[in-house]
Parts: sequence; C-alpha cells; structure tokens
Amino acid sequence: MARIVMKFGGTSVADLDRIKNVARHVKREVDAGHEVAVVVSAMSGKTNELVGWVQGTPKVVGANSPFYDAREYDAVVASGEQVTCGLLAIALQAMDINARSWQGWQIPIRTDNAHGAARILEIDGADIIKRMGEGQVAVVAGFQGLGPDNRIATLGRGGSDTSAVAIAAAVKADRCDIYTDVDGVYTTDPRIVPQARRLKKVAFEEMLEMASLGAKVLQVRSVELAMVHKVRTFVRSSFEDPDAPGMGDLLNPPGTLICDEDEIVEQEVVTGIAYAKDEAQISLRRLADRPGVSAAIFGPLAESHINVDMIVQNISEDGSKTDMTFTVPSGDVEKAIKVLGENKEKIGYDVVQNESGLVKVSVIGIGMRSHAGVAATAFKALAEKGINIKAITTSEIKISILIDGPYAELAVRTLHSCYGLDKN
Ligand code: ASP
Ligand code: MG
Repeated sequence: MARIVMKFGGTSVADLDRIKNVARHVKREVDAGHEVAVVVSAMSGKTNELVGWVQGTPKVVGANSPFYDAREYDAVVASGEQVTCGLLAIALQAMDINARSWQGWQIPIRTDNAHGAARILEIDGADIIKRMGEGQVAVVAGFQGLGPDNRIATLGRGGSDTSAVAIAAAVKADRCDIYTDVDGVYTTDPRIVPQARRLKKVAFEEMLEMASLGAKVLQVRSVELAMVHKVRTFVRSSFEDPDAPGMGDLLNPPGTLICDEDEIVEQEVVTGIAYAKDEAQISLRRLADRPGVSAAIFGPLAESHINVDMIVQNISEDGSKTDMTFTVPSGDVEKAIKVLGENKEKIGYDVVQNESGLVKVSVIGIGMRSHAGVAATAFKALAEKGINIKAITTSEIKISILIDGPYAELAVRTLHSCYGLDKN
C-alpha cells in the first residue's frame, strides 16, 4: 500500500465526461489498496473567464491593487476549483467510492497575504491523513488557501500544481502524480522537434531550469517545492485508458519521474533543450565604470517589477567606460526604457539601445558539472548553421544562448541533435 496524491489539470476536468474519466483513474488506485488524495484545477478556460469578469469591473478606489481589490479577485477566481472538486467527489461517490471535497480553508492550507500570488506557509494534513486511513478519498480544490486575514487567497496562475506538491509533502505521500494533457517531460518541445524523446527521469534541478525556461509542463514553484521536500513527482497523461496495462504500476507508471539526482543512475551529459520566446535585449553604452553602477541600473528595474534575465558587462578597455547588456521579456521593454531614462543621471550612460523579438535557447543537464566541452559543442553546431550568437550565460547545469527570433526552431533542432538527443 502506498499514499498517492493525484493532480488533474484543467483539460483533464474540462467537462463531465472527462471528470468521469478522472474518477476511473482514481478508482484504479483506490482498488489497488492505496490511500489517495486528489487535487483538481478548474475546468479549462474557467479561470480565464473568471479573471476576465474581475477585470471588467470598475476600478476599486483605495484597494491595494490599481485595478481591483485583490482579495475579491481571489474570492472570484478560486471558485472554479470549488466546482470541480465537488463534481469529482460526486462522480467518485457514483462509483461507490467514499470521497469528499475539501476547500483550501477547510483543511486549512495556510498562505501568506500576497493575494493573487500567495505562497503556502503551512498545511495541516492531520484530518486528511486520518480520513484517508479510514478509506476516504480527499478531493482538494487546487490553487487556493486561506490568508492570514482569514480570506481566500490564490497561488498565482498554474498554482494547483503547487497545491498538489504541497499536499503531497504535508501528508508524506510516496508519490505525487501530475496528470495533464501530455504524457511526460520531453527532451525538447515535440512540436518543434518530432524526434524529441520522453524522459524517464529528470532531476529536480533540471526540471526547474526546463520549467522556468519555457517548457510549460509544471508551475515553477511546484518544482521548487518538490525539490525542497524531495517529493517524487510523476508527470503523466490523463488521456490514456485508465485501465491500460501498466497504468497502476507502483514504481514505474508511464510518464516522467522528477526526482533527486541520486535516483538517476545513467546520467546523460545533456538532458534537454529549452527555449524562451519574446526576449528583448537592452544595451547601455559608455557607462561610467565605477562601483554602484549596476546597483543604479538594476535596483530601479527591480522596483518596477521588471524581470531581468541575462546580464553581460564588458571589461572596459581603459578603466573609465564600459557597456552593459541585459535581457527582459519583450513586453517590458518600454517600461524598462522609461525607468532607465528617469535614472539616466544617476546611472551615467551615454545611449540606450534595444532590440526585441529575440529567443533564448538553453542546453540543460546536470551531467555538465563533470564534463568539459559541452558549450563548445553548441557553439560549433550553431556556427555550422550560420546562426549568430548575441549573448551567452552559463551556470553549472545550463548554457543559455540569445539569438534572433527567426532562427529559434533551427537552433533548437540543431542543439537537440548535436547532443545525440534525437530518438533513433
Ligand atoms: N485554475 C488555475 C489556473 O488556470 C490554477 C491551475 O489550473 O493550476 O491558473
Ligand atoms: Mg496547469
């Protein structure tokens, strides 16, 4: 017997038939004798609709958000999950399974006060554990918890992944299964590279890079949480026949296991290629080369909530002037230029230049730590295709390369095959 948390995303609960199908997946694990908690998202499209309704209401004067009262935003958008967890409990009961729904506040899942993007602080798993022990399935609304003000708080878009991992940690589950509309994590986006392979295992750190670099399988925060609490997390498909052979395999269900690197015996040097579109590059020319300049640039950008990614500074030739280049999401360029303009005197630069429509491709693998020449392989392969590199950053397990947008697909394909990731 094991204790399993099963999470189903929006497409998996998109209508009543799919909810019934989810119930069959749950029944399979219950029939195998496992203790089960289920976490659900809202039906697909529902949260967007709810957010749209809130944004369509008049601005609230004096609220802590410029557009609307974030606490009421949460009251509205959390309702999608309330519906699906009730419906799934009913579908389970119809199959003679003892089940009940749980709202975040009923458990409770305690969060901080950041309405709309709250962090989970604490989950009291005692009640759920007790009832699971008595054979009851807990069907939990994802995406929501209870803030210190005793009001509903939501965890940010895609947050029900994080709910699931947090609950798995709280009830000390053996496994957290994230059911979604893809059947696992691939070496790269299969829509771009048909030869992409499904990975059997990915280390937490690699998945963190893949998730934050645009492989949109899991919310980044959920992977962070899984890494901290060492929650073994499977990404798998809800669209496979719930009763197909192997689906109930306890150790190796079909999908990708995200786990501690110690569990990965045959480590490849490179695990995957990720890409992030719509990057923009901003360069400040002829900056004074003195202490405090970086702080003068990036402090105000951070205060304006602009997410700066790659940062490259030149070594100055004469020790007096230098250049600084960094990237931001394309949508933030205008705002960033404005902030830099407002701080021009304090920073002390000559001109600011920018270019949008760039793409960042990244080569990821924990095997890089112990292998030399991984970056050189990428540069050579890209050069052979005539792809120009605009900027490079590296970490222990990642090489990121900034290129012109139109070359994105060619670059991803080239890198995928140069590290031998193509299937067959
Ligand atoms: N329903 C929420 C959203 O669409 C949370 C989730 O699905 O993970 O963002
Ligand atoms: Mg999701």
